[in-house]
Amino acid sequence: MARLSAYRAKRHFDRTPEPRGKPACRAGAGRFVVQRHRARRLHFDFRLEINGVFKSWAVTKVPSLDPSVRRLAIEVEDHPLEYGVFEGVIPKGEYGAGAVQLWDRGDWRSQTGNRPGYDFGKGVLKFVLHGRKLKGGWALIRVGARSGDARKSWLLVKERDREAKRGSPDRLARFARSVKTGRTLAEIVRGRKRMRR
Ligand code: MN
Repeated sequence: MARLSAYRAKRHFDRTPEPRGKPACRAGAGRFVVQRHRARRLHFDFRLEINGVFKSWAVTKVPSLDPSVRRLAIEVEDHPLEYGVFEGVIPKGEYGAGAVQLWDRGDWRSQTGNRPGYDFGKGVLKFVLHGRKLKGGWALIRVGARSGDARKSWLLVKERDREAKRGSPDRLARFARSVKTGRTLAEIVRGRKRMRR
């Protein structure tokens, strides 16, 4: 069972609205979420449900639909599955301070035939996403970590399929609203409730 000690050690749950969480046992389809997070830098937190937690990567730019464009994805600490519905503002002075938007969510399915935990350990995940914004085949490939560096570098790459789009790697950046509430990051900061549309 994966542990959440690294996740919990970074956060004060009496001050941040994020969930404390607990590891869960779930069989069947895995969930994925992508949270758009305006911390010191805007980034995309990409999370795949594996072995009862969200394995998590901080992707430095919007995921690209162009298979020739590889996005750097820094492996970060496991997050609880409860994090998959989190949207809100992490207070100033707390870890990851800034607005978090639920940018995409859905299910994921491995394409390798291996257990996802095995593929994660090997550093090669190939999978299909069924989200609102991210669809079709994707891969996360580990590109190695320098010794003594706790951060691990992976690449997030779109597979060549019908959902792939060549030529405009930032095309998904125009989708600026929450999949949960329809809010922009600015509206989340202002504490505005669900958009009326
Ligand atoms: Mn983040």
